[in-house]
Amino acid sequence: MFRRRARADRELHEAQREALALIQMHAREPLPFDTVQAPASAGSSSEVIVPDLPLAEVRGPSRQDVEGVMMRWMQLLVIEGEVRTCPKCGVYRGWIVFCLRDDSVWLRCRAGHQVQEPHLDATWFNRNSGPVDHWHPTLEDGLRHLGH
Ligand SMILES: [Zn+2]
Repeated sequence: MFRRRARADRELHEAQREALALIQMHAREPLPFDTVQAPASAGSSSEVIVPDLPLAEVRGPSRQDVEGVMMRWMQLLVIEGEVRTCPKCGVYRGWIVFCLRDDSVWLRCRAGHQVQEPHLDATWFNRNSGPVDHWHPTLEDGLRHLGH
């Protein structure tokens, strides 16, 4: 009876230590946005499988390890006083905004047209992106998650 109790205590302590390690890791690497993992090798991104678990943000790759980050932008996107519209189909709502590893920002409309937005950068993206949600093994997976 006493020995079993001691083992339970030890397991509890181990679990607490692991939880603390996770929290410390999280504090070092906050990822306040959706991320798309960089492919393991060129052209084979589908081989990288990342489980979509509640702790995904804790195990997530660092900013340097991802291809880019993305967020949904449902409201009007006003840049330098003008509402941004898709140059190809003219829509002005329901964007996915990407920020790539080179800090360039891209817009994608619901029809899948993508255009670089030179007036926006990573600083703007980080200021406007919400808390971490998910990270994705592929761009397609991320787009599906965001409703595109
Ligand atoms: Zn479009």
